[in-house]
Amino acid sequence: MPKKRILILGGGLAGLSTAWHLQKNGVDCRIFEKEKEAGGLCRSKKIGGFTFDCDGHLLHFKHRYTFNLVKGLLGSNLAKHQRSAWIYSSGRFSHYPFQANLYGLPKPVIQDCLLGFIQAYNHSLPEITQRYSFQDWIIQHFGKGIARHFMTPYNTKFWTHPPQKLTCEWLDGFIPAPSLKEVIEGTIEPNKRQFGYNATFWYPKAGGINQLPLALTAQLKHLHTGCPVSKIDLEEKRITLASGGSEKFDILVSTIPLPELPRLLGGLPKKTEALFKKLNWNSIFNLNLGINKNDSAARHWVYYPQKEVSFFRVGFFHNFSTSLVPAGKNSLYVEIAYSKNKPVDKNRIIGHSINDLKKMNIFRENEVILAQDTNDIKYGYPIYDFNYRPAREGIAEFLMQNNIFACGRYGSWRYMSMEDVLLEGRQIAAKIASLS
Ligand SMILES: Cc1cc2nc3c(=O)[nH]c(=O)nc-3n(C[C@H](O)[C@H](O)[C@H](O)COP(=O)(O)OP(=O)(O)OC[C@H]3O[C@@H](n4cnc5c(N)ncnc54)[C@H](O)[C@@H]3O)c2cc1C
Repeated sequence: MPKKRILILGGGLAGLSTAWHLQKNGVDCRIFEKEKEAGGLCRSKKIGGFTFDCDGHLLHFKHRYTFNLVKGLLGSNLAKHQRSAWIYSSGRFSHYPFQANLYGLPKPVIQDCLLGFIQAYNHSLPEITQRYSFQDWIIQHFGKGIARHFMTPYNTKFWTHPPQKLTCEWLDGFIPAPSLKEVIEGTIEPNKRQFGYNATFWYPKAGGINQLPLALTAQLKHLHTGCPVSKIDLEEKRITLASGGSEKFDILVSTIPLPELPRLLGGLPKKTEALFKKLNWNSIFNLNLGINKNDSAARHWVYYPQKEVSFFRVGFFHNFSTSLVPAGKNSLYVEIAYSKNKPVDKNRIIGHSINDLKKMNIFRENEVILAQDTNDIKYGYPIYDFNYRPAREGIAEFLMQNNIFACGRYGSWRYMSMEDVLLEGRQIAAKIASLS
């Protein structure tokens, strides 16, 4: 039987993982990546002695398999960190997560949050209806005070949509839910327990997060970079490259963002086209700065729920690894969410962010920017609104019927971490291997 022609579209972590798992099992495949370098969102840039990732990219492991995979790839170039994450609200810093660390906030805020939590705690949970929203979940689990002082403003800013318009399908343990005892303890002193999936994280000792895709690509054959795919012909089973060349396939793995597919596929059935139009997302504008500062705060990142502050989070690369900065210098990343629902002025966003960094005392008048980098991430987070599930499921069914495996954060259109896409690549490779 002739070998099946397997093509992988996109050389981000999902595409690389699929190819790596296929090739490790002796299954041949070819990868076509649009950019000159593979890695997708996990690429890093070196500018003026600073290494900048595309926004913050930290490794969290829920599965022994992925830890071993990454450890095998990076060897001793991997360090474990205890998270130092903070929230700036009511003019003060408190430990993340807000709901478990009310200590230090103004007394009226603590009182409002605690009373709300107790009221929510004493209420039996109402029935979960089809229109059960993320806001309902927030009120039920944390009460109106915590919703008012952090959860609702922060999530509205981050998702660029009010939580009333979102479902809870993405939650899956992302937001820690402390007990009443833990909330009360957290008003007396910062909680000793580190909550949540990201209480610890891993990061390369030397170099940026691109060390991971670099290690994967070093072991791969048939990776074609600088090759945007411009057309997918389902009848002919052929992809066309922007350069003009074309390739036949039997099986296609697409990690290309779903909203891009109608343009590449062309002539979709009306019903399927309508499903694609229902997809919704936010975008992330990321500003990275290298500065002549030697800060001793040792924070990893800080959340900013305020409407009047342009960014929702600022993180500090130099606290992930000193290899990312020249000696005695600092570097940071700023994250701004935007969408059709909440547009930003791209001509003024850098100036606004720098002004807000000054207002927040992160960057002071006497400090100098030594290096600057921006990443405008069009597809940041799929929006889990009430159209999300039917649209995604319908599209996935259509793609499967056409022998296209949708893979990765944007290919399969889910809120996925690096670990999640590495695992999905493994699963899809196993399915394909069973067909080949
Ligand atoms: C702001 C932000 C912060 C994040 N932080 C973290 C974190 O701290 N920890 C964590 O675990 N995860 C984090 N993630 C998630 C993580 O980045 C993703 O899960 C992972 O990188 C997705 O990999 P992917 O291959 O699915 O997608 P991508 O990395 O987007 O790869 C898709 C690839 O397809 C290519 N492509 C697109 N169109 C074409 C075309 N027409 N032809 C050929 N190639 C094409 C692209 O160039 C790209 O290389 C973050 C994500 C964002 C947006």
